[in-house]
Amino acid sequence: MTDLAKQTRTDLARDFQLWTTSVAKHTRADDGTEKLLLDLADGGQIECVLLRDDVRRTICISTQVGCAMGCVFCASGLDGLARNLTTGEIVEQMLRLARLLEPEERLSHVVVMGMGEPLANLDALLPALAEVTDPTGLGISGRRVTISTVGLPAAMRRLAEHGAQYRLAVSLHAPDDQLRNQIVPTAKKITLAAILHEANRYFEISGRRLTFEYVLLAGVNDSPEQASRLAQLLRGRLALVNVIPYNQVAGLPYRTPNVAVQRRFRDILVDAGIEVKIRHRKGSKIDAACGQLRRQAAQVGSSGTSPS
Ligand code: SF4
Repeated sequence: MTDLAKQTRTDLARDFQLWTTSVAKHTRADDGTEKLLLDLADGGQIECVLLRDDVRRTICISTQVGCAMGCVFCASGLDGLARNLTTGEIVEQMLRLARLLEPEERLSHVVVMGMGEPLANLDALLPALAEVTDPTGLGISGRRVTISTVGLPAAMRRLAEHGAQYRLAVSLHAPDDQLRNQIVPTAKKITLAAILHEANRYFEISGRRLTFEYVLLAGVNDSPEQASRLAQLLRGRLALVNVIPYNQVAGLPYRTPNVAVQRRFRDILVDAGIEVKIRHRKGSKIDAACGQLRRQAAQVGSSGTSPS
């Protein structure tokens, strides 16, 4: 900023720091997906991703260091929760990813689906998202922002009361409480009925179709009978179900169901009148599933070698 006096520039450089994070690792997959592993000022690490799909440019950001939800298939939850991110750290991920775009590219969507449970850190997330939608910020419509949650009813209610401008994606992963308690063990006291009740409320206020996420784990939650029970559970709702074939994580025992099983699961839901998409994780060659890169870096780091 040469329009500022030289002394002022010197003072600013000495007294202020623009970034609190630094890039520990930057990977790019053949499909255009780019992933950043960021070092935080206190030594923690988080991940964030830029996804390219046709003209769509989506960034996926984290809200916590680690995660307390402990979904059994997830790399981010393996070591539990270290801490919530600050609003600044959430905003920095978006700015760092936006800087990866080519001049002709435009950021179009934000998904809050990275490391952590976003609704467990609403106090920091909501002001960060205000920067996303502000015309003087990133200027992205709230309709293009999706928040993913394992389903924390009280926080879902708070988000609804906040104005319900964002899309909500609720992770179910099971058609009944018994199985869900095994897959998302920390959510034992939260029933599917309570989650769906708040999801309905969110839908009533926002008027927008709900999204449900279902990670398909071979031999665990992918049977025809489980598909029928899921269809039963969601019947009558204006909803989209994203069936996500599991992205295998080193060290975890879960496997990806084969394509025939994935299709059979989808077809049962479709026959019951439910809209379904099978979503494949992009960038799997660079460990784009949440938490994998950070975990890898921690393991390499603990064996005394540089993460990069
Ligand atoms: S899937 Fe999401 S909510 Fe579950 S442990 Fe991983 S980061 Fe947390």
